[in-house]
Amino acid sequence: MKLRTTLILAAALAGGVVMVSEVRIAAAEPIGKITILYDAFGTDAAMKKDWGFSALVEVSGKRILFDTGNDADIFAANIKAKNVDLTSIDFVVLSHRHSDHMAGLNHVLSVNPTVKIYAPKEGFGIYGSSLPSSFYRKDESLPQEMRYYDGKPPEVMKFGTAWQRANIEPIDKTTEIAPGITLIALVSDAPGTKELKELSLAVNTADGIVLVVGCAHPGIEKIVEAAKAINPRIRLIAGGFHLVVASDEVIAKAVAALKDGFKVENIAPGHCTGEPTFAALKQAFGDRYLYAGVGTSLTFDQAKDLGGRRGEGPTMQDDDLAVYRKLAQREDPFGILRARQQRTRLSHL
Ligand SMILES: [Zn+2]
Ligand SMILES: [Zn+2]
Repeated sequence: MKLRTTLILAAALAGGVVMVSEVRIAAAEPIGKITILYDAFGTDAAMKKDWGFSALVEVSGKRILFDTGNDADIFAANIKAKNVDLTSIDFVVLSHRHSDHMAGLNHVLSVNPTVKIYAPKEGFGIYGSSLPSSFYRKDESLPQEMRYYDGKPPEVMKFGTAWQRANIEPIDKTTEIAPGITLIALVSDAPGTKELKELSLAVNTADGIVLVVGCAHPGIEKIVEAAKAINPRIRLIAGGFHLVVASDEVIAKAVAALKDGFKVENIAPGHCTGEPTFAALKQAFGDRYLYAGVGTSLTFDQAKDLGGRRGEGPTMQDDDLAVYRKLAQREDPFGILRARQQRTRLSHL
């Protein structure tokens, strides 16, 4: 009897030890957080609303400023309201060259002039670039005064940037810039923004990818596809999905692709996602739709764990793909069109 009690006690103690060490491991893992600093909707009275995007991403011991909003003064006011110390950020990511993502950079540089800034690499553009001088055709028969650089060009020709003293590192292709932190580089193919390069931030956490997108001009589905190549499990997507003027059909297909095709677990849309897309995503994702108005702080553990595999094996199985294809072919996979038509009919009454 005594022996049994001792054994039970020992087992309980052993269990206790295991529990304690598990708790310790969990506590040691940094809890990621995304704070929305710039957007045109929100409930935080201390924050100014304006079109544009910026977010502070705190993860794996890094503080990353993703985009800088549309107006330097509003950006500065929102930074102050949230008490964000710009001198202690590790780096800035500028998703793309549109001004509603860049206008606050002057404020960042006024506080932290040497901060590392990642931006898409463009041939000629606002972030600056360079080319070997061999790129242009020469004509040695011309007199010196008619020749570029008197006929003696520098080996590398540098092209200007709007922020001459800034520490800008151009990113040409998808690059892991710190352990587990990848910048996905893609190019838009959409009319109006053809050849526009955009960077998206993918953080590979123990619970899947946390993906932050600026405007998603290359297409949110293409960006998620690229993120899935890093880790097939997508825990959370935040930012602008660029469906602000999309038709209901396009919205329905994108929502089906995210939810059923890519099995995105949680969604925190903002910026250029669009009001009808907010509605469609809310309907599809339910309590896995995380509100992300300006001033909101999302912690990664708010994102629901769907019990997916931890990084190994593809999440998209053959039968998932079949369902996705079927849904994508269907005109109205979530009944969004039907609901809207009913609403329109009602509003006409
Ligand atoms: Zn844009
Ligand atoms: Zn934008």
